[in-house]
Amino acid sequence: MFSYFSKDIGIDLGTANSLVYLRGRGIAISEPSVIAVNTKTGQILAVGGEAKEMIGRTPSHISVIRPLVNGVISDFEITQEMLRYFLQKIGRRGNFLNYRRAVIGIPSNLTEVERKSVEDAVVGAGVNRAYLIEEPVAAALGSGLPIESPVASMVIDIGGGTIEIAIISMGGVVMAKSLKIAGDKFNEEIIKFIHEEFRLIIGEPTAEKLKIACGSAIPVDEKLEMRIRGRDLASGLPREVIIRNHHIRLARARSLRSIIEAVKDVIEVSPPELVGDVLKEGISLSGGGSLLRGIDILIQREIEVPVKVAEDPLTAVARGIGIAIEDMAGHRHIFDNPFQKREIIL
Ligand code: ADP
Ligand code: MG
Repeated sequence: MFSYFSKDIGIDLGTANSLVYLRGRGIAISEPSVIAVNTKTGQILAVGGEAKEMIGRTPSHISVIRPLVNGVISDFEITQEMLRYFLQKIGRRGNFLNYRRAVIGIPSNLTEVERKSVEDAVVGAGVNRAYLIEEPVAAALGSGLPIESPVASMVIDIGGGTIEIAIISMGGVVMAKSLKIAGDKFNEEIIKFIHEEFRLIIGEPTAEKLKIACGSAIPVDEKLEMRIRGRDLASGLPREVIIRNHHIRLARARSLRSIIEAVKDVIEVSPPELVGDVLKEGISLSGGGSLLRGIDILIQREIEVPVKVAEDPLTAVARGIGIAIEDMAGHRHIFDNPFQKREIIL
């Protein structure tokens, strides 16, 4: 009965969220990329959502770590521990612990060393062979775009650490740009804004809540506001304020501008045939940041091409990796294989 479960998996190792796709089953794990460690004993206390809850609330001997920064592994050991934990969690349910092949999504601008470290982390966590797929290609697949066709598709994936802007044609990335302005940076901007405008200090979890509850890229009809509590800069005591939609829009204005400029940059340097395709086919948005109210409308207005948010944008990359893993032979040409300069043999 165990053979029903295949031992091939797909991993979307994101700065904010990690998802694991199990071949034949679908998305089996979806957790924040966070791990809590006791620094005295080295013991892992919590992983994923449970660890995220601890951010900003731990005593000094507990450290809550986000092992990925801007889509790149910054703490190798901890990333491996996190992956091992996720794989074991599936293993317990499916009754196996060894995985044959893993397809892993990576940002398109990783260096060879960074690519190798992603591979090593996954292999070290208990997988026999690792295959890499560029995230924009996975996002496009998961968003239902015809990536194999000679007609170009444009995707913008707005994650926690990076924004990936790419034009894809015939299964490969033709043009790409990766920006280090994304969800985390937006939270920082909100913290800075509230510090400057309200003389109030708030933590990252509050900024994240504000961004989701009150944020938008353009003015909205809905009345969006939230009462928050922070520490008064002058008195050092707790104080409450009400933050409204226009505050969040002001806080994020500059970074939204940078996104628009970067999209324009990519289009400007792209071959005219591809630009023609993008004009006609439009742009597809994915990643958690594309859930910001009105971001599609803002980009559409500024770039003057149709823009659509993918269905369930937080899982688009993982579902794209899933499509590739369900038929690895059929997708072999989209796997990135910089270490073996021969065709990938599956
Ligand atoms: P990554 O792939 O880098 O892990 P995700 O695609 O999982 O990132 O997206 C996570 C980011 O999306 C976080 O920064 C989170 O704050 C942001 N996010 C999630 N929901 C919303 C929302 N409704 N509005 C704005 N940002 C959101
Ligand atoms: Mg992502």
